[in-house]
Amino acid sequence: MSGEQSIKCYRCEVRESIVNLNGRKLCPICARNEINNAIRKNFLKSGLVDYESRFIILELNGLEGLSKIIEETLTKIAKKTTIYYQTFSLELSSQSVDSYIHDAIIRSLEICSKEKPNGVVMPFPAEIFMYLLISSAVSRDAGYLSLYTHYTKIGSCNFCFPLHNISLLNMEIVYGVESKFPVASFTHFLIWVKESLEGNQEILHSFHKSIELFATQRKCTRCGAFSESDICKRCRDVNRQ
Ligand SMILES: [Zn+2]
Ligand SMILES: [Zn+2]
Repeated sequence: MSGEQSIKCYRCEVRESIVNLNGRKLCPICARNEINNAIRKNFLKSGLVDYESRFIILELNGLEGLSKIIEETLTKIAKKTTIYYQTFSLELSSQSVDSYIHDAIIRSLEICSKEKPNGVVMPFPAEIFMYLLISSAVSRDAGYLSLYTHYTKIGSCNFCFPLHNISLLNMEIVYGVESKFPVASFTHFLIWVKESLEGNQEILHSFHKSIELFATQRKCTRCGAFSESDICKRCRDVNRQ
């Protein structure tokens, strides 16, 4: 028997499935609806969507396609309630995933203090957090697992993370976007995920339980990372430079 047999979509039972979402094989149209719905729910859970809310969507180097997906969802929400959004492009550090995230936060805070939006929308997908979790065994730095959430406030700025529990690899398949993340170790990690978890992505929906183990009582007041002190080591090091 061939393993290449096509399987009909779990939802519509008509079209052929192309992707495995939460253990169900779905066609492109049903999968897109499902992901759009999940993003919309994440937005609503952030508590930031209100009449005439203004959002800034960050378009980050290597993840540009994901900002387009966020725009697609916000456009739909905007049809039902009046909200506004604009996109800001940032070219971030490619030294490491942590420095990329740090850079994204610090530069968003600058934008936020000028533009004063209701929320800044970060396009970090689930695999970034999975990478941070796994690499923390070596780096001993799990600070930015604090951002695996719908919403967090850093300084006076509200951040939402509508893709934090949505798979980048699935979005690539469903929306036809291609990510070119600038940190090589993360790109290698993605290849490993693709090859070893194909068809069995349950880990993408369960690893978040481990994140709770890293939560600290305090967070860095500057960048929002889990930290034992008010200013995390990364912010102290950056200040010294
Ligand atoms: Zn379908
Ligand atoms: Zn910090």
